[in-house]
Amino acid sequence: MAQKTFEIRTNSRDEMIDVTDRVAEAVEASGLSEGVATVYVPHTTAGVTINENADPSVVHDVIAALDEAVPWRQGFYRHAEGNSAAHVKSSIVGAAQAVPFAGGRLTLGTWQAVFFCEFDGPRSRRFRVDVTGR
Ligand code: ZN
Repeated sequence: MAQKTFEIRTNSRDEMIDVTDRVAEAVEASGLSEGVATVYVPHTTAGVTINENADPSVVHDVIAALDEAVPWRQGFYRHAEGNSAAHVKSSIVGAAQAVPFAGGRLTLGTWQAVFFCEFDGPRSRRFRVDVTGR
């Protein structure tokens, strides 16, 4: 079992940042050969997802569709901080993803990447990777 925490700076209100290299780095640092890397985001207005990184339009479309489904609007939400849309998007996307690895390498599909998802940026954020296996 090994654990690594990464700091990340986001640049927009909504953003998906490819963190696959950092997850792979945590797996490599663990020295383990096979198991699962759990990526966990300890924030209520951010999340983590796995999706395509080959065509950047996919990231654009995911952000646009989430924004369409969960718009920022006045007078609808109760939460006084005013960022309820970001909280809802965070719950839809989720705070954790499990990424399997074998032979010391992530076994993601050809087009898959792990994305840190910002929904109320720009901010300084962090995420943690717990690596378990043998
Ligand atoms: Zn809030």
